[in-house]
Amino acid sequence: MIFAVALGVTLYGMWGYHRDRLVEITAQEAMQAGLSIETGLRSAMLRNDRSSLQATIDELIRVTKLTRINVVDIHGRVALSSDPAMRGKILDRETDKTCVTCHQHGGTKPSRTSILFENQKAPFWRNIIKVENRPACYGCHPPTQKICGILIVDASLAETYSILHTAGMRLLFTGLVAFLVVALVVSRVISRFVLTPLEVLRGGFARVGKGDFDYWVNIRGCGELAEMGDSFNIMSRAIGRYITEIGRKTREFENLYTIVQRMSETIELKKVMEVAVNILHEVVQAQCVLLVMNHERDSSRFEMTWRLDSDRRCYWADYSLADHDDELPHGSICKADLIKWQNEPMNGPAFENNGCRAMLPLQVKDMRFGMICIVKEGRQRFTLADQNLFPALAQHIAISLANARLYNQAITDELTTLYTKRYFFTKAQDLIDEYRQEGGRGFCLMMVDLDHFKDVNDSYGHPVGDQVLTLVGELIWIVLRRGDMPCRYGGEEFAILLPDVDIESVQSVAQRLLKYVAGFAFTVAGLPSFHKTLSIGLAAFPDHATNVEELVAAADAALYEAKHRGRNRVCIYNRKECEEAPQEGATP
Ligand code: GH3
Ligand code: MG
Ligand code: MG
Repeated sequence: MIFAVALGVTLYGMWGYHRDRLVEITAQEAMQAGLSIETGLRSAMLRNDRSSLQATIDELIRVTKLTRINVVDIHGRVALSSDPAMRGKILDRETDKTCVTCHQHGGTKPSRTSILFENQKAPFWRNIIKVENRPACYGCHPPTQKICGILIVDASLAETYSILHTAGMRLLFTGLVAFLVVALVVSRVISRFVLTPLEVLRGGFARVGKGDFDYWVNIRGCGELAEMGDSFNIMSRAIGRYITEIGRKTREFENLYTIVQRMSETIELKKVMEVAVNILHEVVQAQCVLLVMNHERDSSRFEMTWRLDSDRRCYWADYSLADHDDELPHGSICKADLIKWQNEPMNGPAFENNGCRAMLPLQVKDMRFGMICIVKEGRQRFTLADQNLFPALAQHIAISLANARLYNQAITDELTTLYTKRYFFTKAQDLIDEYRQEGGRGFCLMMVDLDHFKDVNDSYGHPVGDQVLTLVGELIWIVLRRGDMPCRYGGEEFAILLPDVDIESVQSVAQRLLKYVAGFAFTVAGLPSFHKTLSIGLAAFPDHATNVEELVAAADAALYEAKHRGRNRVCIYNRKECEEAPQEGATP
C-alpha cells in the first residue's frame, strides 16, 4: 500500500512537472508569435496595408498552433481577426466575459497579460500584447495616446493536453505494471523468506504445545528465521528432555511416596519385610524379589522372604551357613553370595549376571543387616529408571527394617525370643477391639507354666534354668501356627494368644505342646538329659471374659486348676474335666 502511494505520488509529480514545462513552452511560443505579429502589424499599419495584415493573420492561423488572433483598437473594436465573426465587434471590458477575466471590476489595467483558459472544451493560452504608440505612428495616432491598440493571440493547448493525456496514461500504465511486478516479486520474496518459515515455526509451536517434543522444524536458508528455527529445535529438545526428566523424577517420587506410605503402615518386622518384597515386586516388575536379613545374635543364620512373579504370596525360610551346603531356599542367590555379603561391604546397588540381577544392600549407617536380590522379569536388564530408583528405595527399606528390628527388640523377650508382657496386653486389647468392630470367632488365651521349674535352678543352677527357658521358647515357636502370639508373661510362665480359633482347636494345640515339651530331652551344659512338663490353662474371649483382665484371670484359674489336679495337663476355664498329656513320644 505504501509502495503504491509512493509510486503514485512520484508518477504524478513527474507528470505535473512535464505538464508545466509543456504549457510554459506553448506560452512562450504563443508570446513569440504574438511579438512577431505585433512587429508585422506595426509595419502593416505604417504602410496602411490592412489586407496584407489580415492575410498574414490567416496564414499564421493556418500554419501555427494559434487558434485566434484579434487586433482590438483603443475603442474596443475588433479591427482585425482571424475569426470573421469577430471582425468589427466591439468588446466591452466591463461586460464581455473574455475581457472581465483580466479587467476585473471594469478596471482599465488588466491584471495579467497571459491567461490560461483550462476549463474550456478546447483549452488555450491567451497573450495580450499592447501595441504601443511610437513616434512613427504619430501620423495616425496623436502623441498623447499611449497605445495604438491591443493584440490578442490565442494559442491552442489541445495538442499539449493531448500529449499530456497520453503521457499521463502511459505513466499510469507503467506505474501499474511496475506496481504489479514489484508487488508480485515482493510478495514472492516475503512468502518465501518470511511467511513460509513463520508458518513452519507456527506449526512447530503447535506440535510442541501438544507434547511432540521430537518435532523438527526445517527452515532452509541462513537468515534470522533459519537461526530462529535452529534455536526452536534446540529449545524443543531441551524442553522434551526436561519434561522427561521431570516425569521420571515425579514417578520416582510417587514410587518413593507410595513405598514410604506403605512401609509406615506397619512396624512389625515380618510385615515390613513382606511389604518391602511386595513393593519391589510391583515397582520393578520382577521375576523374583528375595529379602535376606541376618540373625541378630547368630551371624551364620539368615531369615529370608521372597516372592515370585507366578505367585502373589510371600514365602519364608531360615537359612544357616553351618547347616546347609550350597542349596538355598530360593535359587536367585547362593551361599557364596551370603559369604560375600558378610565379608565385603557393599557401597550401593550392584548389578550382576549381565545386568539382570540387582543386589541392594540393607544398611543404616554402620549397621549392615541384609540385602535384597531382584531378578528382572524375563531376565531382562534393569532400566535406567530402575537403577535410579534403587539407591533411595533401598535406603527407605533399610530404615524401615532397622526401625522394625528395634521395635522387634522392644517387644521381644531376649531370653526366650517370645514377645514381652507389655506386647501381650497390647495385642490382647487389639484382638478384643477387632472382635468388637468386625465380629468373628474371637480368640483364646493359653497360660503355660513349667512344672517344678524351681527344681532346675536348685539342681543345676540359674544359668541352666535360663537355657531351659530358651529351649522352651523355641519349642513353643515350633508348635504354634503362624499368627499365634506367644509371650513371656513372667518367670517361667507364658501367655499365648491364638486369634480366630475356638477353644476345642486350642485344646488340641495345647495338648500337642504339652506332649512335645514332656517328650523333649533337655540336654544342657553337658549334664545328663532331663525332662520337664507343663501345665496349661485355657480361656476364650468372649465366652469366658469381657476384657483382658478377666481373660487373664480366667486362664490363670484354669492353670491353677491344672496344677491343682496334678500338673502336666490342660484345663479349660469353668469346665470340670482337665486333660492330662498322653505319655507317648514327643512329636510336634
Ligand atoms: P510349680 O509352678 O509347678 O508350682 O512349681 P515352680 O517351681 O515352677 O513354681 P515357682 O513359681 O515356685 O517357681 C518358679 C521359679 O522359676 C522361681 C524362679 O527361681 C524361677 N525363675 C523365674 N524366672 C526365672 C528366670 O528368668 N531364670 C531362671 N533360671 N529361673 C527363673
Ligand atoms: Mg512353675
Ligand atoms: Mg510360675
